[in-house]
Amino acid sequence: MKNLFAFNNLGKLIHISEVNKRNNEYYTCINCGKELIAKKGKIKAHHFAHKAVLDCNFETYLHKLGKLIFYQTYNQCVEKNIPYYVEYETSYICSTCESNNAIKKTCELGIQVNKFDLTTRYDLVNIEKSYDGFIADILLESSKKEINDKIFIEIAVTHTCEIEKQESGIRIVEIKLNDEKDIKIIKEKSLNIENENINFYNFKTKTTDIRKPLNQCDKEFEVFSVLKNKKAIKRLVKAKNIQKILNDKMYVYNKILFYDNNESERFGGYVFIELVEEASNNGIDVKNCFVCRFFTYNNSYLNEMPYFCKRLKSGFDNTNIGADCNKFWRIGKTYTQQKI
Ligand SMILES: [Zn+2]
Ligand SMILES: [Zn+2]
Repeated sequence: MKNLFAFNNLGKLIHISEVNKRNNEYYTCINCGKELIAKKGKIKAHHFAHKAVLDCNFETYLHKLGKLIFYQTYNQCVEKNIPYYVEYETSYICSTCESNNAIKKTCELGIQVNKFDLTTRYDLVNIEKSYDGFIADILLESSKKEINDKIFIEIAVTHTCEIEKQESGIRIVEIKLNDEKDIKIIKEKSLNIENENINFYNFKTKTTDIRKPLNQCDKEFEVFSVLKNKKAIKRLVKAKNIQKILNDKMYVYNKILFYDNNESERFGGYVFIELVEEASNNGIDVKNCFVCRFFTYNNSYLNEMPYFCKRLKSGFDNTNIGADCNKFWRIGKTYTQQKI
């Protein structure tokens, strides 16, 4: 076993890099308590080695080391007023838009990651402390009586947090250590959501309703419209501007696209084509090439135009040219059914 950390004769946890060969210190293993020798040679990487060959398990050593480092780092933060952060998610919504007649929904404005300084609420840190029938590797709590919620910090080496603990409702941050290098996760003083070695249990996403005044919400919706000039467009429109569009005589047909259940629909290439077909089938006079029987895709690789008109025998890239084309010939519903 080649450990990077040990206790010195004062019981202080030290890293091999802090060892000065001249000051004849005595080192012991943080796991088995037996004597260690600091190996600071020129060839092998510096480390502590057990003086005698012993049955000392590296996983238990790493688990103990994780707890000690967390305890030491966190305590220093409390004493020196240095923040120790935990990240949490806030989901922003706007419920005012339920009263917006065009939307009639709560807007989901997305999730943001925020940081909270744990030391501002939990000023006490203990190793292996029991709470509510469980023993926490590290228990964070407050010295103030009115604050009685706790946070468990669990160091996972060989196995992850037991199911009973996960289901207890207690907020747990689990830090997975694969080797001694992972100690840096603890020393970074920020338990980050995107870190693959960190799992969060029972941390709920906070929801904040920003309740924008009516018609001032910036949530963007996709809106498909057919214009008076028979052209079709699909674009993003802010909630605050949707009513204006619905009232605008320039548009003869509007459809707001809500992707609440399936956000991936948004990226389907056929969405626009289907919307044009739907409008046309609903009797809207949309003169877009997607609903003209002379429309086809351009198969020529030499031509950069993605579409081809069978009547005009030419490639094109904007299907709204159908609105100004005297050869436009609307297809019936049968085409829609055959296409897919
Ligand atoms: Zn040992
Ligand atoms: Zn809104």
